[in-house]
Amino acid sequence: MRFNRLRLNGFKSFVDPTDLVVAEGLTGVVGPNGCGKSNLLEALRWVMGENRPTAMRGGGMEDVIFAGAATRPARNFAEVSLLIDNSDRLAPAEFNDSDILEVVRRITRDAGSAYKIGGKDVRARDVQMLFADASTGAHSPALVRQGQISELINAKPSNRRRILEEAAGISGLYQRRHEAELKLNGAEQNLSRVDDVLDQLA
Ligand code: ATP
Repeated sequence: MRFNRLRLNGFKSFVDPTDLVVAEGLTGVVGPNGCGKSNLLEALRWVMGENRPTAMRGGGMEDVIFAGAATRPARNFAEVSLLIDNSDRLAPAEFNDSDILEVVRRITRDAGSAYKIGGKDVRARDVQMLFADASTGAHSPALVRQGQISELINAKPSNRRRILEEAAGISGLYQRRHEAELKLNGAEQNLSRVDDVLDQLA
């Protein structure tokens, strides 16, 4: 999955619409302290469905919305859009009708997040699965935070295994297995309730 472009509007310090072309090969982001380099990486995680405010260095998800500055009022929404090269047609069938796929996440104060893939309204899960099936996503170890390398060196073997599993392209399958297990547990609980009711009737 190749990212072509990242668009930010009202996201953290990127108050004005900002368009970043992701060229082929290695991309480096350089700039003075506090200019917004980490905010860019967070925008990428966020549009891929990150739902933990702490991963965005905030107390609540609305903290990603531009909070205002001495000369500019706060914004009411934040939007990040990611353009993905889909010329190899690897996206799920319902989104697979064009060479470029646009994934958009928008958060409005007091109204939460809304997601779109290819212009269609979707759930957070659809966006997360799109990226998980392509072996990437908000928790991808390909996005390296400050301090993450030393965390990895000191990590438990089970946590390191997650990185190998992602490289093997099976993260999406794990998510689906987890959802299937939850459904199975629900069905088992329903069955035992049915048994209780039958016992009472007997
Ligand atoms: P460093 O090199 O020090 O790690 P950086 O280039 O990674 O810095 P960021 O941490 O991405 O910089 O950006 C920090 C800036 O973003 C700060 O100036 C902070 O005030 C601003 N910022 C963060 N959240 C918001 C927000 N919601 N509204 C406005 N500005 C914000």
